[in-house]
Amino acid sequence: MSSKHRSSRQSERATGASESESASTVQLAEGLIVDGSRGLYAVETPDGLLRCTIRGRLRKELEYGSRGGAGRQVKRVTVREHDPVAIGDRVRVLPTGGESGVIEQVVARAGGAFTRRDPNAGAGNLALTTVAGLDQLIAVFAACEPAPHLRLLDRLLVLAESQDIAALICLNKVDQQPDGWLLERLEVYRAVGYPVVMTSAATGAGVSELRGRLDGHTSAFVGPSGVGKSSLLNAVQPGLALRVSAIGETTHKGRHTTTGTRLVPLDGGGGYIADTAGIRALALGAASLRQLDTCFREFAAYLGQCRLSDCTHLHEPDCAIRAAVANGSLDSERYESYGKLFDEGSKAPISLVALE
Ligand code: GDP
Ligand code: ZN
Repeated sequence: MSSKHRSSRQSERATGASESESASTVQLAEGLIVDGSRGLYAVETPDGLLRCTIRGRLRKELEYGSRGGAGRQVKRVTVREHDPVAIGDRVRVLPTGGESGVIEQVVARAGGAFTRRDPNAGAGNLALTTVAGLDQLIAVFAACEPAPHLRLLDRLLVLAESQDIAALICLNKVDQQPDGWLLERLEVYRAVGYPVVMTSAATGAGVSELRGRLDGHTSAFVGPSGVGKSSLLNAVQPGLALRVSAIGETTHKGRHTTTGTRLVPLDGGGGYIADTAGIRALALGAASLRQLDTCFREFAAYLGQCRLSDCTHLHEPDCAIRAAVANGSLDSERYESYGKLFDEGSKAPISLVALE
């Protein structure tokens, strides 16, 4: 950004910020990246939405030798291939006048993150967009059509658990009578502590309950295509899907967003929703095999009671988990999901979820 366009006072600020971290902190506004990628971002700050570039040094990753102190040597400088920041990251911004700013600092990332394929990248290209800072995953399934896949549900729940993201199950299209077996299965999930919300985007049933669970959270709706995610987004906040992108607004006037993932602030309540419509595959931080048993929350009561301390709960003698499955205290379908994910995880980290 050219300094010609700044007032002299702002220009001083910019210089101070790039030379001294401590001096800059005073004038920086903290905000949340809600849109954008590749060098141009929309950051929501207490003073409103700022269109921001990013300080060049944040694009570089410096690795120092172990000695530290004044004599430390830069061992390697890696220019990051991907964006150094993601939608959902908290950042500190130097306002540069108008509705512009420069991202000067990235606040340590908290919460979960997921990565999706960028539909702009074209077939076969693995360009990824990451959404950071999620604290709630809403697993959406349809009552009948498309038929609900509970293995996929278990996988989503494991990935949420592995990152300490709260998970909520939403059964949509309840206007199309769900089968008794499905309602029974959902009781198992409710019993182990996952809230289940029954909704119909078509009739509005359950929508206000769902909306209430979004306040104060940064949530993502995840599930196969056709289950009604976009319809639910529109139901919880009418007009959501048609909202003009904060970036599109300034770069291509009035153009509606067609692709990029954004965080959309909800009216009142202070929550955000990651607009994930069109996600075909997502990666959550990989769940490690060693911790897989802790990602089935109902196993917790039995962990530590197996004879072997490194019991995999698949074939070892005196396994408390298998005993609990055998006597009906643990659900056998969930245990089967555990076995399948364990097998899969012994070949490659469990992280990618195909949603098609
Ligand atoms: P997405 O791919 O998950 O975003 O699903 P959409 O929101 O695009 O919905 C897929 C189809 O299901 C559309 O034809 C919707 O009109 C329909 N649909 C969505 N929610 C409901 C619902 O609650 N009941 C019924 N009967 N149809 C629904
Ligand atoms: Zn065991």
